[in-house]
Amino acid sequence: MNPSEEEGTLSKRKIIELLKTKNKEEVYRLYQIADKTRKKYMGDEIHLRGIIEFSNYCRRDCLYCGLRRSNARLHRYRMTFSEIFQTALKTQTLNFKTVVLQSGEDPAYRVEDLCLLIKKIKKELHLAITLCIGERPRQEYEVMKEAGADRFLLKHETSDYPLYKRLHPDLFYEDRLKCLSWLKELGYQVGSGNMVGLPGQSVESLAEDILLFKKLDVDMVGIGPFIPHYDTPLRNTKTGSLDAVLKIIAIARIVTKNAHIPATTAVGTIDPLGRQKALQCGANVIMPNITPQKYRRDYQIYPDKICIFEDAEDCHSCIQGMVKSLGRTIASSFGHSLKKRFKNLEEKDEKNIP
Ligand code: SAH
Repeated sequence: MNPSEEEGTLSKRKIIELLKTKNKEEVYRLYQIADKTRKKYMGDEIHLRGIIEFSNYCRRDCLYCGLRRSNARLHRYRMTFSEIFQTALKTQTLNFKTVVLQSGEDPAYRVEDLCLLIKKIKKELHLAITLCIGERPRQEYEVMKEAGADRFLLKHETSDYPLYKRLHPDLFYEDRLKCLSWLKELGYQVGSGNMVGLPGQSVESLAEDILLFKKLDVDMVGIGPFIPHYDTPLRNTKTGSLDAVLKIIAIARIVTKNAHIPATTAVGTIDPLGRQKALQCGANVIMPNITPQKYRRDYQIYPDKICIFEDAEDCHSCIQGMVKSLGRTIASSFGHSLKKRFKNLEEKDEKNIP
C-alpha cells in the first residue's frame, strides 16, 4: 500500500487485490496498518455494548437466518417489557454504557410500547440505546428517536443486488438503503454491515460492501462470517473464512477511519481467538450477550453461538481478561459516534449525560 492508500484512499481495484492476496507478509502489513489506524482514530479503549436479544419471532424468511419464519423447529420466545427493563438494569450494574435491543422483525412490539421502554431506560438507567429491530416505517423510527434511542443497526448484508434478492425473498435492497438514509436523516448514529462468505458472494461485491460503508459514512460497521444453520435452506453451504473476515475488518477500518467496529460474536464462534484477532486488526467494540440464560439458546441466528451457557457476570470477567491481555482498556464513556455531524455528542459524553 502506498501512503495515500494507507490514509484510506483505496480504489476498488486495490481492495480486490488485498482481498485476493495470499501473501502472508502483505496480509500482516494490512493488519498492522489497520491496527495503527484504529489506535490513531479510536485510541486503545474498547467499548462494551450489552446486547439483549428480546424476541426471536420474525416475520421475514431470510434464507441464511435460523430465526426465519419458516423455521418451525425453533422454540420461539418474547421477553416482556419488564423483563427487558430488568435486563437493561443488569447492563448498568455491570457498568456497560450502552444497551443494544435486538430482535427478529417482530411487529408484536408496537412502537408506542417500545417508546415507553426507551424513555424508561433513558430516564432511570442513563444508558445509550442502540436498536436492531429491522425495517419499520419512517414515522416509527422518528418517534423512537424522539423517545431517546441513540443508535440503530441495520446491516445491508450484501451489496450484490441479485444475491440480496435470492437471500431475502421478502425484502428489497432499495428499501434497505432507504431505511438507512431515513435513520441518518433522523439523527441516529447508524450502523450497517455485511456477512462474509455467503454462498455465491464474489470478491468484487465484498469490495463494494466496503466502499458502501464509506459512501454511507456509517457510524458503526458490523462484519461477521456467514455461518450455515442446519434448519435453513443454506444448511449444506460453507462457513465464511476467518481470514476473509479479518481482511474486511482491516480494510473497513482503514477506509472508514473512525467508525465503531465490533469484534462480533460470529467471529468468536468460528475461531476461539476470533474476537481477539479482530480487535488487533481494526475492531474497537465488543458486544457481550446479556440476554437472560433461559432465552439465549433460542436466539439461534446461526448454530454453536458462543457464550450461551455463561451468565452475564462470567461473560464480563472473560471480556475483562481479553481486553487486558491485549494491552487495551475498557472505555468508561458512552462511546458515541466520532463523526463530525455528531460533534455535540462528545460534549455529552464528557458530562456523562446520555
Ligand atoms: N432483525 C434484525 C436483527 C437480525 S439478526 C435486523 O434485521 O437487523 C442480526 C444479524 O445476524 C443480521 O444482520 C445478520 O447479519 C446476522 N446473521 C443472521 N443469520 C446469520 C448466519 N447464518 N450467519 C451469520 N450471521 C447471521
